[in-house]
Amino acid sequence: MGRSGQLPRIGPAGTPADDSGCPILHVDMDAFFASVEVRRRPELSGKAVIVGGIGPRGVVSSASYAARGHGVRSAMPMSRARQLCPQAVVLPPDLPHYVEISRGVMDVFRSVTPLVQPRSLDEAFLDVSGAVRLMGNPATIGQLVRSRVTERYGITCSVGVASTKFLAKLASTRCKPDGLLVVPRDGVLEFLHPLPIGALWGVGERTADRLGQLGMRTVRDVAHAPLTVLRGAVGRTVAAHLHELAWGREAGGVLPESVEKSIGADETFEVDVDDPRLIHRELLRLAERTAARLRAAGQLGRTVTVRIRFADFTTITRSRTAAVPTNAGQEIYSIVRQLYGALRLGRTPIRLVGVRVEGLSAAQGTPEQLALGSRESGWREADRAVDRAVTRFGAGVVRPAALVPPRPASRPVRGAAAGDLPS
Ligand SMILES: [Mg+2]
Repeated sequence: MGRSGQLPRIGPAGTPADDSGCPILHVDMDAFFASVEVRRRPELSGKAVIVGGIGPRGVVSSASYAARGHGVRSAMPMSRARQLCPQAVVLPPDLPHYVEISRGVMDVFRSVTPLVQPRSLDEAFLDVSGAVRLMGNPATIGQLVRSRVTERYGITCSVGVASTKFLAKLASTRCKPDGLLVVPRDGVLEFLHPLPIGALWGVGERTADRLGQLGMRTVRDVAHAPLTVLRGAVGRTVAAHLHELAWGREAGGVLPESVEKSIGADETFEVDVDDPRLIHRELLRLAERTAARLRAAGQLGRTVTVRIRFADFTTITRSRTAAVPTNAGQEIYSIVRQLYGALRLGRTPIRLVGVRVEGLSAAQGTPEQLALGSRESGWREADRAVDRAVTRFGAGVVRPAALVPPRPASRPVRGAAAGDLPS
């Protein structure tokens, strides 16, 4: 906020901007998990609220703007967050609930265009080219989405409107919270070039350092750098990609299908765990959670990966591809159990376990495999029933028997998987 300089901003203030040729919207929920919690506990309104792991190794998944005012950020260790903002109300994540709200929010997006590409639970790209004639210009459609989300779910979102996904994403970040910002076609370079190079997709800390050593600080520097210099620093492929982005160009539009390459979840234990029963229980929970996310995204997955991080931080992964795509928790867990069993870890202390599913395809387009037999399809039915129960009664109502108490002595810290952290 306040960092958008002279750029026209359309928001509650209603400053007009030329959005012709800007059919791409990036919609990003504001402090999604925290906002959802505040919405169902109105007494928390305006207060510092942090959602994340509450144990000693917990990390912040989401922080209300009041908490951010004290410097609390997503992915920060919870211990640090508590130091910065001791008065904050800290809540453990209720992921099934957020998945349900996310599904509803994505439906709002699909009410204006079928071209919706979710980027995570709380953000998506929309291509509204086909909706303009009926619903008005892109910024008007953006405002419509914003008001529908707020009406239905009592939470706010921010919208970037631009000619490419990258620019739309930058714009939504710059008008947060509860804003809308247009990057007009003839204002792209004016918007983009002063930004630090870290704003470019694919530039992490290491790349930024390497380019910094060559004197590049801003996107403008990257745009004007000779390609040979860029290639020498980051390789041919990345150089070409950065050069295009730095000039506001981008290949590929909004892809409504196979949006995410993988879906998964992981857990960091509060203390290292060496009891195979506790590990199995956690793997089952993660398989169920991954399956729920697949179903929420309307996806099936084929390749199941288990990730194990040991006490010394070394990490191993093992994968297996299922005969047929699935989004059933028990089917995913059965592969997970085989993969974990084959590792023969005995009582090796484990710090983190993760489950991930790749090879995604849209659930509707994938024929149901009748050859699988009644047991598997029965599991799918059971999962749908769980989804419905969760929708009606909230999380924790229905769980597979092995998730029912006794609770593990060491309860896991719930942390959103990397890439799922909402901003
Ligand atoms: Mg967000």
